[in-house]
Amino acid sequence: MTTRTLVAGGAGFLGSHLCERLLADGHRVYCLDNESSGRAGNVEHLLSADRFEYVRGDVRDLPELPDVDEVYNLASRASPTDFDDHPVEIALTNAEGTRNLLDYCVDRDATFLFASTSEVYGDPEVHPQPESYNGNVNVRGVRGCYDESKRFGEALVVAYERQYGVDARTARIFNTYGPRMRPDDGRVVPTFVRQALAGDDLTVYGDGSQTRSFCYVDDEVAGLRALMDEPTASGAVVNLGNDREITIREFAETVIDVLGDDNDIVYEPLPEDDPQRRRPDSSRARDLLGWTPEIGLEEGLRRTGEFFAEAEPNV
Ligand code: NAD
Ligand code: UDP
Repeated sequence: MTTRTLVAGGAGFLGSHLCERLLADGHRVYCLDNESSGRAGNVEHLLSADRFEYVRGDVRDLPELPDVDEVYNLASRASPTDFDDHPVEIALTNAEGTRNLLDYCVDRDATFLFASTSEVYGDPEVHPQPESYNGNVNVRGVRGCYDESKRFGEALVVAYERQYGVDARTARIFNTYGPRMRPDDGRVVPTFVRQALAGDDLTVYGDGSQTRSFCYVDDEVAGLRALMDEPTASGAVVNLGNDREITIREFAETVIDVLGDDNDIVYEPLPEDDPQRRRPDSSRARDLLGWTPEIGLEEGLRRTGEFFAEAEPNV
């Protein structure tokens, strides 16, 4: 029987790749999105498939939806510039939106996957970060609307599991990049790639000693699919990220090597509450799901660069 799958936030960067993968795997896919940080154009190429349906709508006020077997909740703005401009919307999308989708799963007996984030670890004092680490988030900081609403979303998932027996899974997604990121969304990958291709200086914040671990989107989508499909993962929370850790300064140099032409690096002030180190402890993903990322940073950057080089300026 064809599995019916709802992807909330499906017209976003990660969501559009997930919709593609699900269609290729034979699912009937309903993509729900309010186009706040995503674009219908990201899934335009899927509209001709008869197993794909696009629904424009908001998870905070769910429209009428068909019955489905599984729900991926990826709906949430995720870039630091949006934390400045849309904090209330972000907080309520992860709170009310997650509640609405969990209620929907209770009604339909559907399986739920929540896209949480490595941001629940805040500026971590434990390194690398295992799922058992409770984190170090500044509740009142500029990232609080995002970090705390993802933490609340996770707590809500656990509450629904306990009270209603929902089959739910939580992914803590670490920095993921690839084609269809918004060039102007302020995150480091689109910013550096755009700057490298344009021959501009790369803007490193702080002294560039802070670290991140970058996962290519195809690997991330494979991890999300594995988490949803693994029968023994019901109730689990799993870090999904690449464990190659790199400083932002080294990352800038790598982007220049792969895509640039001897660009300069300039240093700008470090934003408030910018985490100093971040790397997933991936043992649970390996042991429970048999998942490890396969695409190296240089290859992932080449693929991302191709997309940005071809994209229209207003994409
Ligand atoms: P994105 O902004 O490209 O995608 C988010 C999508 O959700 C967009 O299409 C947006 O229009 C939609 N959306 C936002 N609010 C909505 C609402 N109220 N109702 C309906 N749709 C709504 O960002 P992304 O990087 O693809 O992130 C997808 C998910 O993964 C997010 O939940 C994000 O928090 C999580 N995540 C991403 C990363 C990453 O590195 N990309 C890391 C950690 C967590
Ligand atoms: N960053 C940077 N230059 C930029 C954009 C971001 O040096 O033009 C830094 C940012 O300060 C952070 C890292 O790159 O230390 C990753 O930033 P991003 O916003 O992509 O993700 P997050 O901080 O949420 O991990």
